[in-house]
Amino acid sequence: MTFAIHGLAVSRGIAIGRAVVVASSRMEVVHYFIRPEQVGSEIARARDARNAVIDELRRLQEEMPKDAPGELDALLDVHLMLLQDVALATAVKNWISDRLYNAEWALTTQLEAISRQFDEMEDEYLRERKADLEQLAERILRHMKGMPSPVAAPAVLATTGTQSPPAPRHGPQQELLPDGSIDAPLVLVAQDLSPVDMLQFKSRVFAGFITAVGGRTSHTAIVARSMDIPAVVGARAAGQLIRQDDWVIIDGNAGVVIVDPSPIILAEYGFRQRQNELERERLSRLRHTPALTLDGERIELLANIEQPGDGPAAVHAGAVGVGLFRTEFLFMGRGGNLPDEEEQYRAYREAVDGMQGMPVTIRTLDVGADKPLDKAQPKDYYLNPALGLRAIRWSLADPAMFRTQLRAILRAAAHGPIHLLFPMLAHQSEIDQTLSQVRLAQSELDTRGMAYGVVKLGAMIEVPAAALMVRSFLRQFDFLSIGTNDLIQYTLAIDRADEAVAHLYDPLHPAVLRLVADVIAEGRAQGKSISVCGETAGDVSMTRLLLGLGLRSFSMHPAQILAVKQEILRSDTRKLGAWAQEVVRSDDPAALLAA
Ligand code: PEP
Ligand code: MG
Repeated sequence: MTFAIHGLAVSRGIAIGRAVVVASSRMEVVHYFIRPEQVGSEIARARDARNAVIDELRRLQEEMPKDAPGELDALLDVHLMLLQDVALATAVKNWISDRLYNAEWALTTQLEAISRQFDEMEDEYLRERKADLEQLAERILRHMKGMPSPVAAPAVLATTGTQSPPAPRHGPQQELLPDGSIDAPLVLVAQDLSPVDMLQFKSRVFAGFITAVGGRTSHTAIVARSMDIPAVVGARAAGQLIRQDDWVIIDGNAGVVIVDPSPIILAEYGFRQRQNELERERLSRLRHTPALTLDGERIELLANIEQPGDGPAAVHAGAVGVGLFRTEFLFMGRGGNLPDEEEQYRAYREAVDGMQGMPVTIRTLDVGADKPLDKAQPKDYYLNPALGLRAIRWSLADPAMFRTQLRAILRAAAHGPIHLLFPMLAHQSEIDQTLSQVRLAQSELDTRGMAYGVVKLGAMIEVPAAALMVRSFLRQFDFLSIGTNDLIQYTLAIDRADEAVAHLYDPLHPAVLRLVADVIAEGRAQGKSISVCGETAGDVSMTRLLLGLGLRSFSMHPAQILAVKQEILRSDTRKLGAWAQEVVRSDDPAALLAA
C-alpha cells in the first residue's frame, strides 16, 4: 500500500529506487560495498566471526561455576542455537553475495530484520528479547573488528526464527548483473549517517538518501547536496516504516518520501525526474559562460569541497577556485589515528594540483558538534556539543596537532595559491593564538629547511560575536568568509542538526540578515574580500539579495554553481542595492523576497 513520510527537503531532485536500510547499532559499524571477487573472503570473515563467538559461548558454558543458576546455561544454549541457525548464516551470506555488502553491514542488516520480527510479537517478554539479540550482534561485530568481547554471560534470550532478505512489496525483482552491480537504483535509508559514512557512499552511486534525524544544514544534508543527490532528512518514521528492498520515491524538492508507490504515482514521478534532467542539461550550457551580471559586475563562483580529489569536478562545474575545503573529512573515522604531516601535505597538494593554478581555500580542522572524529565519541558526550570544544577551539587545545596541519598546508602552498581559513573564531585571544601558531609553524619549517609558500589568512564569520567585531577581524585578516550555517545556528540558538527545531532555522531572520549585511558592507568599505561559504551561497532564492548587499564572491557545492550563475546572469546589481537594504530592514524579509 502506498504511503508518504514527511521530512525536510535538503537536496533537490527526484530519486526512485529500492530501499537499502542501514540498521543502527550501538557499535561502530562500517558500511561499504565489496568487489565481486571479495565475496568469498567476506563470507569467510562473517563465518569466522560467528564461529569465534560460538567457541566463546561454549567456553563460557564449560567454565560456568557449578552453583550458577541453571537458567543461565539454558540461555547460552539459546544463544548458541540462534548462532548456529542455518537460516541466519544463509541470509548473511546472501546480503554479501547479492548486494556486495561488507560482512558487518550484512550482519546488522539481517539482525535488524530479525529484530523487527521481535517488535511485532504480541508477547511482551519475547519483545523485550531484542536486547539479547543486540548483545549477540555486538559480540560478532567485536570479533570482526578483532576485539573479542569481554567474556560475560548473556541476558535472557528467547529463540526466534530467522529470515532471508525479504521480498519487496512492489516492483520487479532485483537482478544481479554479471559485473556484480545491481539493476535498480538504490536509495539509502538510515537513522542517521555519519559524515564518514556519507563519504564512503560517495564512490558508490546511491540515487538518494533518507535519514530519520538531521536538519537542513546537518552534514548528511550538506554532503548529499555536494553529491547532487536527492535527500530527505528528519523523516522520523522512515526507519520503522521502510523495509529492506521497498520501492521508494524521494521527492527532494518537497521533502517527501513515498513508499511502495502505485504505478500511476511512479509514472508521474518518472515524468518529473525527466523534467529535472532536461533542466540540468540546459544549465550545463552555461558552464563556460563568465559569471557577469547584466551591468557587467564579475562574480566569483567558488566550490566547497570535502576531499582532495574533488578539485577537477569543481573545475568541470565552472568553479574559479575552491572557497572552502572542509579538511575535517581527512581526519574522521580513523579510530584516533590522525593523518600525519606527510599524508596531509599530499592531500592538500592534490587539491592544489587539481585546481590548476586557481586558489584553494583550506579551512583548518572543524571537528566537534555534529562532526565527531569518531563515532565512538557520542554526539551527546557533552551537553551542548555545538557550544563545546569544536573547530578552532579544538585545534588550539591541541597545538601540536594544529601545527602539523598548518605545516602541511604551508608546504602545499609552495605548489599553488592557498588561502588559509580558520573556523569559528570569536575571541581576540583565539585570534592571537591562531596567528602565533601560524608563525611558529613557519619557523619550524625554516628550522627544518623545508620550502613553503605564502598564504593569505582568513577568518570565518560563524558566531554573532565575530560578526559584531568585523572591523577588528578585517584589520587582522586578509579575507573573511561568512559561514551562514553556523551563523544562523548561533544567532538564533537553533541546533542546525536537530529536526525538532528545523522550522525555526531561518536564513531570512532579520537578525541574521543584519549581521550578514554588516559584514559584507564593512568588508567592501575596507576593500577586503568577503565571501559566503554557507549553504545560503548556493540557494538560488538568496542570490539576488546577496548581490544587492554587495556580495561578489559565493562558495557552494559544485552542483549548485550553474543554477546560481543563471540567476547572476539575469541580475542587475544597480537595481538590487536599495531593494536589498529594504529587505534587511523589514520585519518580514521573506515576504519582500517572495514579492
Ligand atoms: C558554515 O558554518 O556555514 C560552514 C560553511 O561551515 P560548516 O558547514 O562546515 O560548519
Ligand atoms: Mg561552520
